Amino acid sequence: MPDISEKPVSLRSKGEINERLIRSLIYHQGPLSRIEIGDITQMSPAALTAICGDLLQSGEVVETDEVKASGRGRRRRPLRINYENIGCISLICDPHSIDAAVVDLNGDIKWQKSYDTPLTREAYQENLIKAYKDALQENTFKPGNLLEIGVSLPEIYKRPGQPIETDPFSGIYAEIGAEKILKEIAEVPVFVDKIESLRALGEMAYGAGKGAEMMMLITWDEILRGALVDNGSLVRGATGAAIKIGHFWVGETDQYCSCGLNGCLNLHMAPERIIEQWKEGKHSVSNDPIEDITDYRRIIELAGQSDGIAAAVLAKAAELLAAEVGPLATVLVIDRIILGGELAAASDVMLQPFHAALRKYVSHNEYKRLEVLPAALGLAAAHRGVAAQAAEWHFALPHHHTMT
Ligand SMILES: [Zn+2]
Repeated sequence: MPDISEKPVSLRSKGEINERLIRSLIYHQGPLSRIEIGDITQMSPAALTAICGDLLQSGEVVETDEVKASGRGRRRRPLRINYENIGCISLICDPHSIDAAVVDLNGDIKWQKSYDTPLTREAYQENLIKAYKDALQENTFKPGNLLEIGVSLPEIYKRPGQPIETDPFSGIYAEIGAEKILKEIAEVPVFVDKIESLRALGEMAYGAGKGAEMMMLITWDEILRGALVDNGSLVRGATGAAIKIGHFWVGETDQYCSCGLNGCLNLHMAPERIIEQWKEGKHSVSNDPIEDITDYRRIIELAGQSDGIAAAVLAKAAELLAAEVGPLATVLVIDRIILGGELAAASDVMLQPFHAALRKYVSHNEYKRLEVLPAALGLAAAHRGVAAQAAEWHFALPHHHTMT
């Protein structure tokens, strides 16, 4: 390994470090006047003027309208990050489509288009490239202000700086090789992460997680998935698979989960099981013929239409979930739980029973502090999460380890 301390520091790299420092200061503490930046960094006025000039020129930074009178004569407008001028391209990969967007650092989606895509390797690769090229065409950021191409994939594990690990059951996504094919054609960095992780980052930065410090996102879409965000940074665990909420062991079942256990929450909340419980409930109260339900979402719909048995089945599932999440919320000192997917579909059907049941599993004080909210941004949260992740890297203070 080369000894970094022996490497000569060129003026250019020193300038880059200073530019990074000033940009980060404006991001974390701004708006800041040039004089304030000078006081913090002790940089010479000449160096400071040059760097601020470059940042203004690139459009990354703008002067605010506010005029601060300084004690040293000239009145200067403080500088702020020009969030609407910096952004990313985001590609969300779903089993049936690719959703492409151009998103700025305010979290505003400037352009969005969905591409119906059959889940085969060739079709998927072809549409990924097409979606990326269309988004590149549509983005209006200056070249240096397009920070990242972020790709959301289901069923992957990702650790910064490490290759993607694919869930053994994700099949096709590993073969598509989204990161590799985009890196071959893109001129800016490409990163890949799992959908829940990026959704959670998006909710914390721009949605229902705003103001939270430790936020857990739980989604239910046939299976349960989760992500944990600690003040804007993802908590990934040793393998990148943190918050495998669906594999929380609840109690023995007669089936085995994909993970090899026979009692995971995913089995207890499996769509077939929800339907089966509803049918049993119906048969126990009446001999009348019942609707032949094949999609568990219909049970959620019925519960919303005052079908008492449907409501009871879902309340039981919500209670199971609360019994697992409650202790986790206590251990990790979570202050916000965001429910997405079917958990947020009808708040009185899942969210309210879940919140009510949590009372049994967290202390009174923690219960008062713990907020449970429906996801605010839907799937587009992942687009905004790409912007949030890119901003975290781009504006990291120079001493941080950053991934590019
Ligand atoms: Zn499992």
